[in-house]
Amino acid sequence: MNRDGNAHNLRLVSAKGKTTGDAGTPFDALAFVQALSSSLELGTVLARLQEHLHAQVHHSGWFFILQESDETWSGGDEDRHRIEYGMSFNNETMGSLILMRGRRFSDDEQQLIEALLGLAAPALANALRFQRLNESLETDELTGLGNRRAFEKQGAQWLADCRRQDRPMSVLAIDLDHFKQINDEYGHSVGDDILRLVAQTLRSTTRESDLCVRMGGEEFLAVLPGADLSRAMECGERIRLAIAALRACAKATDKSALESDGAVKVTASVGVAGVGRGATLQSAYQAADEALYAAKQAGRNRVLAGN
Ligand code: GH3
Ligand code: MG
Ligand code: MG
Repeated sequence: MNRDGNAHNLRLVSAKGKTTGDAGTPFDALAFVQALSSSLELGTVLARLQEHLHAQVHHSGWFFILQESDETWSGGDEDRHRIEYGMSFNNETMGSLILMRGRRFSDDEQQLIEALLGLAAPALANALRFQRLNESLETDELTGLGNRRAFEKQGAQWLADCRRQDRPMSVLAIDLDHFKQINDEYGHSVGDDILRLVAQTLRSTTRESDLCVRMGGEEFLAVLPGADLSRAMECGERIRLAIAALRACAKATDKSALESDGAVKVTASVGVAGVGRGATLQSAYQAADEALYAAKQAGRNRVLAGN
């Protein structure tokens, strides 16, 4: 993901007698630390960091790569001289900051940058913690997919994007068939294995730009930006077939497993709804859920479209 880090326009407070960098702007350490720690949003903290760095040491472009995910933020223009700093706090590496420009960075400049990055590290660490916390609040622990909260937040964002770009969008409600029986017969941990396999299947049968979430229990949702109803039906059918082809391993001690070949199968019913012009995310979810109910009524292991 690339985010533009140039959105903020802060002015340095000038202070007599404070350190002055090559770029000539007096440096106020307190203002610097305050500016960085007044936001917990990682993109904002990085933008402010680069803005203050720029006031001290001219550079044409920068990017920051987050160690744990390779997520990248960048701003300005690339150039041939690069300088890279690994940023860490309390012995934990957070990521790398790369600055670029047409001429090399002097030793004095490098020392100044290092000092500024040292001051910036706690604010960056807090922003990183905040980002992780937000991610965990939107993640389903069992499957690693998004959860209901992710659906509400990202789904609403994508719906607004699709509206603005006049693109279609569809929602698929997916519910495993007779899942209670599987749990009863093979145990809860086999049930959990199946839920994880289904999550992987949803990821592999949809595009990276689609959103797959576990709404709870054995119910999943896929949000397909850019897909009209017929493309969403095709995707629903792909998901249905892939789930029916899954085989989980029953525990060797299980009697039913010994009677069968140890492979546990599952099927899913799918309801599909296009997000019409006047629809909200919730009304589209409801329409997909009604179609799902109809698919259950019609005998399960099938895909039906809503109104
Ligand atoms: P239907 O085809 O009508 O959907 O039947 P069903 O049995 O799938 O539906 P029902 O709502 O009766 O049961 C859902 C079951 O899902 C009940 C519960 O034991 C199981 N379940 C819910 N959450 C979890 C979970 O996290 N792990 C496991 N293993 N099972 C779960
Ligand atoms: Mg079910
Ligand atoms: Mg259910």
